[in-house]
Amino acid sequence: MIFIISITQRCRSPIDAEVPEWSGSEHLYEILAKPSPIDAEVPEWSNGTGLGPVGLVPTKVRILASAFIIKMQIKEQIKEVSVVKCKDYSQKKIDEAVSKALKLIEFNPENYRNKKILIKPNILGSYEKNQIAITTHPSVVRAVCKIFKKVNAKIYIGESSFMNTDKAFKKSGIEKIAKEYSFNKKPIIFEQEKLIKIHDNKSKILKTFPIAEIVKKVDLIVNIPKMKTHSLARVTLGIKNLYGLIPGGLKQRFHKKAGGNKFSEILVDIYQNVKDKVKLNILDGVVGMEGHGPASGEQKKSGFILASKDTVALDIAASKIMDFNPKKIPAIKFSVKRGLYTGYGFELKGLKKLPVIHFKKPRELSLKSKLRRLFSREQPIVCDIEKCIKCGTCAKHCPAKAITLKPYPIIDKRKCIRCFCCMEVCPVNALSLGKPGDNMWQNSKNAEKN
Ligand code: SF4
Ligand code: SF4
Repeated sequence: MIFIISITQRCRSPIDAEVPEWSGSEHLYEILAKPSPIDAEVPEWSNGTGLGPVGLVPTKVRILASAFIIKMQIKEQIKEVSVVKCKDYSQKKIDEAVSKALKLIEFNPENYRNKKILIKPNILGSYEKNQIAITTHPSVVRAVCKIFKKVNAKIYIGESSFMNTDKAFKKSGIEKIAKEYSFNKKPIIFEQEKLIKIHDNKSKILKTFPIAEIVKKVDLIVNIPKMKTHSLARVTLGIKNLYGLIPGGLKQRFHKKAGGNKFSEILVDIYQNVKDKVKLNILDGVVGMEGHGPASGEQKKSGFILASKDTVALDIAASKIMDFNPKKIPAIKFSVKRGLYTGYGFELKGLKKLPVIHFKKPRELSLKSKLRRLFSREQPIVCDIEKCIKCGTCAKHCPAKAITLKPYPIIDKRKCIRCFCCMEVCPVNALSLGKPGDNMWQNSKNAEKN
């Protein structure tokens, strides 16, 4: 009823009643929204208000217009997520899948003609193995670059990895793409950029934090996460990928600030401050990671590219595909709680039914693990000494200074805050959550004795 009144108030003269029957509702809306030329002549029937009587507009017109407005309002609230099948990383298939995913959500690159855009892939670090499951695939970044190159956008590709971002860019194959497509012919390393401070009293934990100035200067951020599990945040998708906007070693310090689920409050603090720029999210779910994500898990072939204009909608859809309950993903839950997203629904585009591919949960989440925790028998972080190259990177990046090398890493459980940074930074994935009895645990035990 409210909508009917608002529309009829826009119909200012009897001339509006002559809206042609053939007009589609969209055209109709435009006509109704414009004042009629008769308005200029101070119509007698307007009672000095400039508004026409409701009865002068044919009922059919009013109903059509109202239905259209309601449809627009609902569309505003329900965010679309497209899911497109893509079996492998051949450039042709990726190009097609990304273009299709964007069309399905009605994202028009033309709106960014000559604008500045920042592409934010997930380049966690420089890994010797399993890069295909850890890092956004370069072919996805290339596909996005091609789309924005066509509209002459100024492209920037930026990241701050957990360590050695420049090395990580090289190893991921994305540095090459930055040289080819980006405006300044090289990747943007956030910790080397001019930083600005964000102040936000509505944040839960990070009331003030630095961010590279370019993040706020661009017209659009294209967020390109990977479909992975995460030992601390459960999953790492769109919201978590934005943690890479935080420059360098600060990420570890923030981990120390808030452990457990509170870490996800930090993720939402960051998200709410860049949300207005992140208007396109494309998820690389062709090959992802299950189990001990984000770096020590196993490859999981899912075969999908997802896209959404809304980061939370993307995360809800992706976590459902991974067979996680989005209500139990802290970053999604906190976003909904803070009013950054309404409910847990979304409109699926591209497929009739959302596929569900079971991703093994990180061990930390299993019932057994929770019971162990309850009885102070947490699953230990263990080192596979056959993989470990004794580089000391884990000890260097541990925010709680809980690791000593003897010569393999030994963790002081009293100091450890369970942030799992050590697992993320290890270049050879030698660290994982162990369980008594398995080989890794034995290896670690042996190391402890040495
Ligand atoms: S030992 Fe690992 S999990 Fe524990 S605080 Fe250090 S980096 Fe975090
Ligand atoms: S566990 Fe990994 S990061 Fe730590 S010393 Fe061994 S190889 Fe280096």
